[in-house]
Amino acid sequence: MTEPTRRKCVEIRAVSKNFGSHQALKSVSFDIYDNEFMTLLGPSGCGKTTLLRMLAGFESPSQGEILINGKNIRSLPPHRRRVNTVFQSYALFPHMTLAQNIAYGLENLGWDKPRRQERVARMLDMVHMADFASRRPSELSGGQRQRIALARALAPEPEVLLLDEPLSALDLKLRQAMRDELQQLQRQAGITFIFVTHDQQEALDMSDRICVLGRGEVQQIGTPAQIYEEPANRFVADFIGDTNFLEVTVLAAGNGKARVRTPFGAEIEAPAQDCHPGEAATLSIRPEHIGLSTEAQGALAEGRVVTRKYLGTHSQYVIDIGGTNLTVARWKEASRLDVGDLVHIGLDPAKARVLGS
Ligand code: ATP
Repeated sequence: MTEPTRRKCVEIRAVSKNFGSHQALKSVSFDIYDNEFMTLLGPSGCGKTTLLRMLAGFESPSQGEILINGKNIRSLPPHRRRVNTVFQSYALFPHMTLAQNIAYGLENLGWDKPRRQERVARMLDMVHMADFASRRPSELSGGQRQRIALARALAPEPEVLLLDEPLSALDLKLRQAMRDELQQLQRQAGITFIFVTHDQQEALDMSDRICVLGRGEVQQIGTPAQIYEEPANRFVADFIGDTNFLEVTVLAAGNGKARVRTPFGAEIEAPAQDCHPGEAATLSIRPEHIGLSTEAQGALAEGRVVTRKYLGTHSQYVIDIGGTNLTVARWKEASRLDVGDLVHIGLDPAKARVLGS
């Protein structure tokens, strides 16, 4: 069965942005689908905010085009784009009630009073704040303020909602609770969300797809599972989650797999990307995909425990294998290992990735 074609909401076509001699974005191209929760993820300075500001109309591309629902937005000023932004600082008007805050943008759009009142009531209801209509922002908690900022941004029925690190001012517990709320709100509102963060956990938790940006370029686009389990390159493997990198030699490659020689002498075959026989490559393997055993049978190498950290849900070990350190996560510990113990290392090659340089 063929997958139904999804409607494109945002099309970013070969967009570059220069600030003087600095190129913040280098020919970035990707599509965002209708009702999708897309996250732009990347380290500080990778160009996330610049891309968001171009979508909102506060910057224009140096080259390339952006289309929203098939229309080129180049000549549209910010207020004529059906795009709204929620910022980290809620930017609510302190002298207005919450209902007035939400209604403000609608008044500017020329909505009449009954339509405004109906929409404000619906929005307050949607963010579970119906009883707070006549309060002022100073009488709210941080989480409640962010909900009102969301209600205000969603009120004029934008085609796209841009969210620029909207949870980063909240404390950890509230941030986690708000992740669920944001996801629910997006499904309910049926609007395309473009969410900017440098918090990988937030991105993995909430997104339909993640676009990893690095050095002004798209490094990978995929579902959270694809990004985590099938990183396209070293940058993505390093940025998302914890991983071990081993320098290996490629012996044979083809059909998305490679046979490599590890620094410990053993050979393994693992899923591979961009690598060629005879060349050096990197084997990326997550700490949770390495096994430790006191039995030598089937082991890849042997090493000694350098450190052990108890982290509640699991323990983290560092193992020295002839001068190479590997980080290993153990969730179930049949037997506790101590610093200095001799251990045998095993790994599931299907969970490793060989990445060409
Ligand atoms: P952060 O996570 O720290 O907010 P970011 O990924 O959002 O980072 P951007 O704000 O998009 O990064 O900036 C990308 C690059 O462009 C940075 O090197 C930044 O210094 C530069 N830059 C952004 N805006 C301007 C500007 N108005 N003038 C000059 N350089 C700029």
